[in-house]
Amino acid sequence: MLIKIFIFIVALYFGYRLVKALARKKLRSLFGAPRPEIKKENKLVPCTVCGTWVKEEESLKKGGKLYCSQACRQRGQG
Ligand SMILES: [Zn+2]
Repeated sequence: MLIKIFIFIVALYFGYRLVKALARKKLRSLFGAPRPEIKKENKLVPCTVCGTWVKEEESLKKGGKLYCSQACRQRGQG
């Protein structure tokens, strides 16, 4: 009787490990796969204050407006 319980626990343990390993593999394929089609665009946006075109990723965003620099951001707020 005891041996059956023991086997059951061992089976459960290995089943758990297997599921965990599979889940990790699946997650990795879902999120870890490289996505070559996504290339970050260097979109240009105009500064709200001086009108200078800057890359969106380098611009400063505040209150839905874009600024080219800290100085412009301060001017834009004042
Ligand atoms: Zn500016």
